[in-house]
Amino acid sequence: MRRSDLADEFADLAAMTRDVATEKIGPMIAETEIAATFNPEIRAVLATAGLFGLVVPENHGGAAGDVRHQVIVLEELARVYPSACTYLTAHWLATKLIALNATGPAEAGWVRPLLAGAAEGTALGAIAVTEPDHGSDLGGVVTRARRDGDDWVISGTKRFITNGGFADFYTVLARTGGPGSRGLSLFMVESDRPGVRATRWERKMGLHGSATAEMTFDEVRVPADHLVGEVDRGFRHLMRGFDEGRLGVAAMCLGIAQGALDAAVEYASVRTQFGREIAGYQGVQFLVADMAIGVHTTRSILYDAMNAFVAGDPEASRLAAVAKTYASDVAMKVASDAVQVHGGAGYVTDFPVEMFLRDAKIGQIYEGTNQILRMVIARTYFGDLAR
Ligand SMILES: Cc1cc2nc3c(=O)[nH]c(=O)nc-3n(C[C@H](O)[C@H](O)[C@H](O)COP(=O)(O)OP(=O)(O)OC[C@H]3O[C@@H](n4cnc5c(N)ncnc54)[C@H](O)[C@@H]3O)c2cc1C
Repeated sequence: MRRSDLADEFADLAAMTRDVATEKIGPMIAETEIAATFNPEIRAVLATAGLFGLVVPENHGGAAGDVRHQVIVLEELARVYPSACTYLTAHWLATKLIALNATGPAEAGWVRPLLAGAAEGTALGAIAVTEPDHGSDLGGVVTRARRDGDDWVISGTKRFITNGGFADFYTVLARTGGPGSRGLSLFMVESDRPGVRATRWERKMGLHGSATAEMTFDEVRVPADHLVGEVDRGFRHLMRGFDEGRLGVAAMCLGIAQGALDAAVEYASVRTQFGREIAGYQGVQFLVADMAIGVHTTRSILYDAMNAFVAGDPEASRLAAVAKTYASDVAMKVASDAVQVHGGAGYVTDFPVEMFLRDAKIGQIYEGTNQILRMVIARTYFGDLAR
């Protein structure tokens, strides 16, 4: 499936996002990459464009988009600045889990104003699940939530939290029951509650414009209604969110690959060596052709997966894992080849391809490493035989 097969509404969204990315975010990239932290101006641009609200239902002030809108937006942003995608993806997952699962008395209480703020971008979300000793093995999470009268009291350390220290609320995975994934629950924790603290920010290989923090939750008291979804079912709720999140990672990787291909074509068309443009050499042409094959196949696989998701196809979860794994492996290869096409110029910061190469790597790591996702894919065929 190609871009042109999508309805006009998606073409309009793509054009709007491309404009925001190139005109508004583009001029901020150089400075943000050097500052290597969260940029409030990027947050403001994304908020003004209404992009934080894509996952918020209409009756809560959002745009009520589906995963197709998210995919298109992330693809377009990543073509220009992959870091900008993470402001949205962390927020969307944190918000979605609340919009889908926070029901009961909370709905008339904190949920309504929170989702209204999340839609406007005035309430920025982050998702706090990973811990120093529990990354792939999320079922072993040790952050604890204990019931104390009308409250829950949450204690633990979370690692690698995107938007950490800048978010207004955190969707936190904590243990409420026995061992394993069936003893975990989700909570909404406002950032200004006593005991919530960003203790350090990571210095990273890529995604320099994205903040990644270690967060401590030290005896953080939240009212009972801050439990999101059912008690001890948090892992299940989270996995549903991860399926969509994986399509988001795939979309970011597709954008990176497309941006790298565009840059390589442009450079090869003007750079001359031995008296002619390097585009005239078959060695360069084959690199570019292979990059194009990667981009086209990735888009096709990703759009197929997203349509399966929208249609409620039972294969959607497997296809999301396939799309994320494939797109991130392709993005690494395409970005590396784009650097190669640029020669020495690709290794320095004058061109975007070195950033694309550094930023592509995270796609193979987060929202399930590509090893874990290969296990997930295999299990859809073998069931318990593959456990
Ligand atoms: C920039 C960045 C942003 C992030 N943002 C967030 C965020 O917003 N919120 C959040 O909660 N987390 C976030 N994460 C965490 C991310 O999801 C984890 O890093 C990821 O899930 C991997 O966990 P880990 O780092 O502990 O690696 P580990 O689980 O320790 O894995 C190490 C290696 O072992 C392999 N491995 C592990 N288990 C198996 C197995 N059973 N079979 C085969 N291989 C295996 C892995 O594939 C990997 O190669 C972020 C991470 C980074 C780097």
